[in-house]
Amino acid sequence: MADVYDMLVIGAGQAGLPLASAFAQKGWRVAVAERKHLGGSCVNFGCTPTKAVLASAQLAYQAKRATEFGLAIPTVEVDYAAVLERARRISAESRESLKKTFDEGNPELLEGHAKFIGRDGESFRLDVSGQSVTTKQIVINTGTRTALPKIEGLEETPFVHSGNWLEDDKLPEHVVILGAGYIALEMSQFYRRMGSRVTVIGDSLQIVEREDEDVARVLQTLLQRENITFYLNTNVTNVARKKGKIVVTFNRKGDASKAKDITPATFASNSQEAQTIEASHLFVATGRKPNTDDLGLESIGVKVDDKGIIEVDERLATNVPGIWVAGDVRGGGMFTHSSYDDYRILESQLLGDKSRTTKRVIPYAMFTDPNLARAGLSEKEAKEAGKKFKSICYEMKKNGKAREIGETQGFIKVLVDTDTQKLLGAAVLSSEAAEIIHPYILMMQNELPYTALESILCIHPTLSEAVQSALKQVSEALD
Ligand SMILES: Cc1cc2nc3c(=O)[nH]c(=O)nc-3n(C[C@H](O)[C@H](O)[C@H](O)COP(=O)(O)OP(=O)(O)OC[C@H]3O[C@@H](n4cnc5c(N)ncnc54)[C@H](O)[C@@H]3O)c2cc1C
Repeated sequence: MADVYDMLVIGAGQAGLPLASAFAQKGWRVAVAERKHLGGSCVNFGCTPTKAVLASAQLAYQAKRATEFGLAIPTVEVDYAAVLERARRISAESRESLKKTFDEGNPELLEGHAKFIGRDGESFRLDVSGQSVTTKQIVINTGTRTALPKIEGLEETPFVHSGNWLEDDKLPEHVVILGAGYIALEMSQFYRRMGSRVTVIGDSLQIVEREDEDVARVLQTLLQRENITFYLNTNVTNVARKKGKIVVTFNRKGDASKAKDITPATFASNSQEAQTIEASHLFVATGRKPNTDDLGLESIGVKVDDKGIIEVDERLATNVPGIWVAGDVRGGGMFTHSSYDDYRILESQLLGDKSRTTKRVIPYAMFTDPNLARAGLSEKEAKEAGKKFKSICYEMKKNGKAREIGETQGFIKVLVDTDTQKLLGAAVLSSEAAEIIHPYILMMQNELPYTALESILCIHPTLSEAVQSALKQVSEALD
C-alpha cells in the first residue's frame, strides 16, 4: 500500500523545509524525502562550514598583521583539526535544530532516495528507498553535487571536493585547486591562511570568469600577495598519484599572447608545452551539477535541459502540472537565499495571492577577504544588453573607516543607466562587502533612481559611507 500525501518535497534543502512547514500548517498532509542530511549543501558542507573556517582563517591572518596595529603576537599556531571541528560543530547545531520541523508529525520525514515511478490516476507515484508514496503536488529541491571534469587519471586519483573537504583533519602541505570560481577562491584563501602552499589552476583567461576583468584582476592581485599561485588559461591533461604525491600535468591553452592572466611568470614559457606540478592534495572545484539525473523525471515527462536543469516558468512550475521546483535545480542563481526565496514564491503561488515570482534581483557574495559582493549587471553584461550607462569606481582607501581598520584594499563599482537614472549593477570588493551592499539591492529591486540614497545620513565612520560616496561620485561624473 502506498502512503498518500497532499504534497511531497524531495530534498530537505533551503527551500524544502520551510515550505513543508508552511503547507503542513495550512492543513496539507506533507512529507519530505531526504536521502542524506537535513539542511542540504548549505548547512552540511557549503555556506555554514566554509564561512566558519574562513572566520578562523581571517583571525589567523589578522593576528599575523598585529604589528601594523601596534601589537605583538609573536607566533600564531594553527590547529587545523580544531578549526574543522569548530566548523563541524556549527553545522551539526544547525542540522540538529532543523529536526524540530518534524516534531508535530506533519510534515513527516521519509529517509531515503526519492524517485518517480509514474502516475496513479491524478497523483504521482514515487518510491522512497522501498517505500511507495503517492501525492498530487511535488516540489523538487534536490540541489547539486560536484561536477567532475573529464581529465585523464582523475577517477584513479584521490581528490577532495566541496562535498568532502571537512572530512580529513590533516592540513594539506600543498593543495592544487582545479577551478578559479567562487568556491575555488574561497577555499584557496582558507588553505593558504591555514599554512598550506596553494596553486589554483583555471581554464579561463581570468579568475571568476563571470565578473568584470578589472574586478577579477584586483582580486587576483590581492590573493597573489598572500602567495597563492595562479595558472590561468590552462588545460589540465592528466592527474596521477605517484609515490604518494599528486602529479598534475597541464599546458597553457591556445595563443599565449592573448592570455590576460597576470601571472605569466608561473608558466615555464609562453609555449604550450606540457608542464607538471607535484602536490600533496588535489581539490576539484570546477563546477556543480544538478541532482536530477537519478529522479526518474523521464517517467512523467518533466523537461530538463542538457545540463540537467529543470525547466520552469516564473512561478517555478514545470511543464507537468503539480510538479514545482525550488533551489539550485531550477538554474539561475544557485544560492541559499535564492533557494529560500523560492519557498516564498511557491507559498505565494500555491497558498497566497500568486504575486511573488522569479522577477527579482539575486545578489551574491564570494567570502574571500576582501569579500566580493555583487548585484545586478556587470559592465560586460550591461554592454551585451545594449544599455547606455555610466560606470564609476570608488576606491575603498578614500573611506575613513577602511583606513582606520586597515582595510583599504578594493573598490566599489557601480553602473547607472543614463537613460533611466536607475542603478543597473554593483560590484563591491571590500572588507564586509556582503554586509554593506544591501542598500544597492533595495534600490535595484525597487527600481529607485541612483540618487535615492543622497538624503540619508550614514553613520560615521562606517564602510557603508562608501556605498553612498560611490553614488555621489556618479553624480559628479554625470554633471
Ligand atoms: C562549498 C560551498 C559553499 C557555498 N557557499 C555559499 C554561500 O556562502 N552563500 C550562498 O548563498 N550559497 C552558498 N553555496 C550554495 C548553497 O549551498 C546552495 O545554493 C543552497 O544550499 C541551496 O541549495 P538547494 O536548496 O537547492 O538544495 P540543497 O541545499 O543542496 O539540498 C538538496 C537536498 O536534496 C537531497 N536530495 C537530492 N536528491 C534526492 C533524492 N532523489 N531523494 C531525496 N533527497 C535528495 C540532498 O541530499 C540534499 O540534502 C555554497 C555551496 C557550496 C558547495
